Amino acid sequence: MISVFGSANMDLVAYVPAAPRLGETVTGWAFRTIPGGKGANQAVAAARAGAEVAFVGAVGDDAFGPGLRAALADAGVDVGRLRTVPGPSGIAHIVVEDGGGNAIIVVPGANGTVAGPDDGDAAVIGRSAALLLQLELPMEAVVAAARVPGPEVILTPAPAVPLPDELLERVDLIVPNEHEAAALTGAAGPDEALEALLGRVPEAVVTLGERGALYGSRDGTRLRVPALPVRAVDTTAAGDTFAGALAVARTEGLGPERALRFASAAAALSVGRAGASTSMPHRHEIDEALASMEGR
Ligand code: ATP
Repeated sequence: MISVFGSANMDLVAYVPAAPRLGETVTGWAFRTIPGGKGANQAVAAARAGAEVAFVGAVGDDAFGPGLRAALADAGVDVGRLRTVPGPSGIAHIVVEDGGGNAIIVVPGANGTVAGPDDGDAAVIGRSAALLLQLELPMEAVVAAARVPGPEVILTPAPAVPLPDELLERVDLIVPNEHEAAALTGAAGPDEALEALLGRVPEAVVTLGERGALYGSRDGTRLRVPALPVRAVDTTAAGDTFAGALAVARTEGLGPERALRFASAAAALSVGRAGASTSMPHRHEIDEALASMEGR
């Protein structure tokens, strides 16, 4: 089983010709509410990729809470440790311009109320093979979750903020994108950032968008895995799909190279179609993509 201790946000997406400046009102041409949040996205990705997944987090008692809960449950994620707390759910207010540029405001809402795991949460996390963490919950809560003995701890350091040693000493694998890797290490390029990360954690993956991903471990292994060629339709949550699928592959015992190929295939499939969690591939699709890539 995989546990995700993380955020659930309702993405409120307005599509406009051009984003308004302060004091200005513009008329949009479409609006969508899309369940998201890095934690929930990774949970859905891991469940679709074939794992039993438990989500630990919080939604509000507002109109968005039930939708966020249902999106996880519909994907087969165990929501037994998802609390409903008084007040608003987390939201991401997103303005997408016709050119594709966007501006985003995240209001943590219920995510900001999450404290460290209670005994029931810790029992679920403790019997998991892997724990997926991101940084959209309060840092103290994330550190407390990482301290629960048992699972391999996989951290997506997003949004990029300074990482306390008490967190990093519990992390087995860190998975930043290249911008986060640069922000965390100050390194000029991804290879240099990878080496700097390995000074702090045993294994690291730096994702490079359509250029694939780099992997390194303290045993000296270094790998570069290309992205699968796809026509990019919507890259939203590519990183979360990658992280969720990578966790599944590792808990199934795949070695680094095969695990990275599995995660790359899952992420590429999600990039090739519209939507965030709705675009995440199911296990058979990932297996088919890998098989056709390997010419079988
Ligand atoms: P996002 O913020 O959109 O969720 P990210 O910035 O966290 O993504 P990226 O490095 O952009 O993460 O992408 C993660 C992985 O997804 C890449 O390592 C790659 O395997 C896959 N991927 C991303 N973009 C593409 C693409 N255009 N074509 C194929 N694969 C892609």
